[in-house]
Amino acid sequence: MNYYNADTIIYHNGEFVKAAETKMDLYSQSLHYGYSVFEGIRSYKTIDGETKIFKAQEHFERLKISAESINLPYTFNTNELIEATYKVLQQNNLGDAYIRPVVYAPANMSFAPNTESFLFIQAWEMAPFLGDKLLRVMTSSYQRPNPKSVKIHAKAAGHYVNSILASQEAKSKGYDEALLLDMNEHTAEGPGANLFFEKDGILYTPEAGHILAGITRATVIELCNQLNIPLQIGVYNIDQLKAADAAFYCGTAAEVIGWESIDDTVFPINWKDTQSAKIQQAYKNLVVEN
Ligand code: PMP
Repeated sequence: MNYYNADTIIYHNGEFVKAAETKMDLYSQSLHYGYSVFEGIRSYKTIDGETKIFKAQEHFERLKISAESINLPYTFNTNELIEATYKVLQQNNLGDAYIRPVVYAPANMSFAPNTESFLFIQAWEMAPFLGDKLLRVMTSSYQRPNPKSVKIHAKAAGHYVNSILASQEAKSKGYDEALLLDMNEHTAEGPGANLFFEKDGILYTPEAGHILAGITRATVIELCNQLNIPLQIGVYNIDQLKAADAAFYCGTAAEVIGWESIDDTVFPINWKDTQSAKIQQAYKNLVVEN
């Protein structure tokens, strides 16, 4: 995957600069300790052919919450960042794109707090959604971090070592993706997506506390309300998931993607006949609305 080329423009500390010519301090506390925060955002070409950043406000507000919750100074303004992101998309001629803002720390080898932070916004082309292939998911041997060891609601870089390990383990065993349980062995989430499952027409999703309760999860909850699909938010174990009719992951990058199986258990109902598939279609329609 080529994320950039010699012409790619990024936004870095208030300026639009060439990605290939940008420097980052190798003594940054962020690089050494995984002490930075980031976002994953999508823009879509809408049905009118315009480029629209989906849930821009929500993502940049979460970036601020993530930074503040780990004590990274945050002096950026959400509306200015949204404006800068549209300019990055325009300057790189991008419509369907993935957008990656990162807030990082200065050179600092100690664990002491910083008096400043830096920000860049990158964007690259997002390949079109590849049909409806269902995921074969494996219960990971890795758990989600104990919420008393990290700020689990923050999108902090260091948390993603856990995600990378879980995802690599699942793929090395021939699965498409991992499911992580929490420290109490309850179903939590994927390495980069939230979990829903369906039983007898009712959707279930793990409550906040041990997960990054995502922006797509919130959108799916809204869609359930709009479509009159009953939803329960609570604490569920793996046996409840394995007894489900269907399941899916949702996230900004993953959108809504159905599962074929969890471990050796194949979900019994044809995906197209589920309430979950209705949510998938409604989400697909929503992101390209003007
Ligand atoms: N959980 C984790 C661990 C994630 O990294 C993501 C992706 N940001 C999600 C859930 C889904 O969040 P969102 O819908 O806000 O992209």
